[in-house]
Amino acid sequence: MSGAGLSPQIWKSLLQEVEKPGRYLGNEVNSVTKDPAQVRLRVALVFPDAYEMGESHVGLKILYDILNRDPEIWAERVYAPWTDMEAALERHRVPLFSLESKRPLKDFDLIGITLPYELVYTNIITILKSGGVPLWQKDRVKGDPVVIGGGSCAFNPEPIAEFFDAVVVGDGEELIHSLARQILAYKESAQTREALLKEMTRSRGVYVPSFFEVDYKEDGSVRKIRPLLEGYAGVAKATVTNLDQAAYPRAPIVPNINVIHDRIGVEVQRGCVRGCRFCQAGYIYRPERQRSPDTVKDIVAKSLASTGQEEVSLLSLSVGDYDCLNPLLNDLFDTYEKDRVSISLPATRTETLTPEVIQQVKRVRKSGFTMAPEAGTPRMRRLINKGNAREDLMRAVDNVFREGWRLIKFYYMCGLPMETEADLMGIAEEALQALAIGRRYTRGAEIHVGCSSFVPKPFTPFQWEPQLSMAEVEAKHAQLRLALRMPGIKFKTHGLTMSYLEGVFSRGDRRLARTLVRAHELGCRFDEWDEKLDFAAWQRAFAETGLDPDFYVTRRRERDEVLPWDHLFVDMKKSFLWEELEASHDLAFIEDCSTGKCSDCGVCDFRKVLNVNYRYLPETEKAQAHSTRGRVLKTEAEQSLAHPPAENQKYQAPPTVQRIRARFTKLGEAAFLSHLDLATLLHRALKRAKIPVGYSQGFNPAMRVSLSPPQPVGVESEAEFMDLELTAFVPPEELLRRVNEVLPAGIALTEARTLTTKVRSLNAAMREQVYAIDVRGDGISGDLPDRVTHLKNSPEVRIERRRAKEQKSVDIRPYIKDIEVVAPNQLHLVTRFGQTSGSIRPSEVLQALFPEGTGGWSASRIRKVDAHFEVE
Ligand code: SF4
Repeated sequence: MSGAGLSPQIWKSLLQEVEKPGRYLGNEVNSVTKDPAQVRLRVALVFPDAYEMGESHVGLKILYDILNRDPEIWAERVYAPWTDMEAALERHRVPLFSLESKRPLKDFDLIGITLPYELVYTNIITILKSGGVPLWQKDRVKGDPVVIGGGSCAFNPEPIAEFFDAVVVGDGEELIHSLARQILAYKESAQTREALLKEMTRSRGVYVPSFFEVDYKEDGSVRKIRPLLEGYAGVAKATVTNLDQAAYPRAPIVPNINVIHDRIGVEVQRGCVRGCRFCQAGYIYRPERQRSPDTVKDIVAKSLASTGQEEVSLLSLSVGDYDCLNPLLNDLFDTYEKDRVSISLPATRTETLTPEVIQQVKRVRKSGFTMAPEAGTPRMRRLINKGNAREDLMRAVDNVFREGWRLIKFYYMCGLPMETEADLMGIAEEALQALAIGRRYTRGAEIHVGCSSFVPKPFTPFQWEPQLSMAEVEAKHAQLRLALRMPGIKFKTHGLTMSYLEGVFSRGDRRLARTLVRAHELGCRFDEWDEKLDFAAWQRAFAETGLDPDFYVTRRRERDEVLPWDHLFVDMKKSFLWEELEASHDLAFIEDCSTGKCSDCGVCDFRKVLNVNYRYLPETEKAQAHSTRGRVLKTEAEQSLAHPPAENQKYQAPPTVQRIRARFTKLGEAAFLSHLDLATLLHRALKRAKIPVGYSQGFNPAMRVSLSPPQPVGVESEAEFMDLELTAFVPPEELLRRVNEVLPAGIALTEARTLTTKVRSLNAAMREQVYAIDVRGDGISGDLPDRVTHLKNSPEVRIERRRAKEQKSVDIRPYIKDIEVVAPNQLHLVTRFGQTSGSIRPSEVLQALFPEGTGGWSASRIRKVDAHFEVE
């Protein structure tokens, strides 16, 4: 087993001591390893949350791809260690390491930390501390890594600013390589850290917090943000002006374990200029820039081939505004329907949810529909500039139910500025009206309503507005819960305390860094995870650092107040945001500037920085960009291309022509994959190898592959099996070769044969499992043969079995067919399977051999070496 930079024993112990070892394995398909001798700069790209939350983050994948194109740079990944891993690292005195080379974080030259949401701030402290990196920027010296942040929280990074050497405000992909090269030059010269940071300020979008000092008034608000470097009074954000030409990975990493967005994400558009007044992303990512449909199709084709994944998600803040959406969907479904690839769209504006789009999306799989009306009445939707009429919403609901969906998820906020009782209860009215529409089509119609509390964000018109207190939000949630208590409706709220803490840090200032450090000392970690958030510890941290969280959350700011983020994103005019706040009071509606008139927010220079949209032209002409102040409205020609799929486009599964049984290994680190993760990994490998495996019929077609019964996590195996149903003949030896070419280390097909007679499933036909066990542990004293003889002679062998929360006494003797000591401390074990109900784990036999405790066998290596099936 290889932990690269770690000793094999420590690596194995770490994996055995944590709940989800798959989070730390690395070695995924398309992850990059390089020869360290050829590399001059080592970069750690950090996502400060658990692997399954961060793996699918598109921004990190883009940077990973760009940096690794340079042969002299090796970018690796680091995710926040879950609390069990943090404790294990501490126990073994091992610093946090990267996924690829298992190198300690402190040994990297550049650490790039994604700042996706505020509630990961304590995880950043964990990562730097357990990685052996000085937390405070002022404490780092030449030889320490340069720590750079970036992401949506970079627009107000003040609570964590003093942990960073620099923060990239805006799009990072055109900056990252030149910053890395600057850091390489600094590393290989006598240049001082300060000189490096000064040089970095010359790049648009780079914020160096140590070149600013903040003075506070007696009332706690900011008096002045003082620049300390001449000519560096504020930061303009970095903007990718030609998204179509910007780098985008075509071979994204394929996760080994189940992650939150386990699909290929293709960003079709960046920025949204609808002007929703609550939405920070709508302001900080302006202007609206689209990728051409040709580029999108190229990314989709190459990513599917390189990953074997079966789902593509078209990403954008408002995907319905992507001008070529319908013809693009048509092309993608026409191309990939036969491969059972589904295309999903994120939450879509209701007026863009046309019947054509709905029909396209359901062609392969019926992914759920999520709609985000945000507010409960047209009045409030106008106030926040969302503007959807209730009729539009209900028309979309009708379309979705008519097309066969049974469930629609609605997403709302409560606590928006100037919210009335009628606005709040409008949420319940809309949910009930939608349910009534659904029931016209199916008695089982369901509406799920998610309601969070509004958190005002920097660089939005509501940045001056107070956030509701937790008590006020709780009362509103209670009212809605009561109004929505009925069959067919589920009501769910977002954590009150989470929204409150998010409110503190999203509009926070530098003084909060001390509170973060204290909260971390008090055990706060993974604050966006319900089961981890410890609000009492947070309250103590605020009290002990002398800060009142309400000062940041529930206070209204005056127009002339200096806001902690005023020196950042200086293109966005503060006066424009204030006028928008006033406009909201008058329910004045502002137009989408890609189709209507420019409202002069300050972001575009109208030379390079401006809205860029594509329109789809018929036949041979390519889609064309329209770099104008206004989006070109849809023409007759493109409407005609956006035809709905015909009825005869319904997929017919081809018949099975060949059944193959293959044997495969699961060795080394692969033994730490769960059964489900192993199945997904094999499915994707079969796809990459272009093996024509059939699919079941129905709304959620499944690949016709079945695996032998699962082995416990950590048990290696040379004798796993899978049965495949193919729709075209493939010689077994060719299947072996093609699949082995794309499998990761530790997993390999060793045999394959065509099944000629009808055989029972692997699960039903398996009779025995054979294990080789190398018994290792502190308690080994040479008496293993006596223990084995005693066990064999016992008519009954009881162990205590703990599964989930249950513990019971089980006699495992009937399941042990044979057990022998074949060499010193080497056991040969044959267990029965499927002959009586239930089965046993090999570790339970060790448990029985060493009733005094696990010390005798905890370091044992268990390997399944064979399996016997009933005679075919
Ligand atoms: S400057 Fe005008 S066109 Fe550009 S994003 Fe702002 S409002 Fe839209």
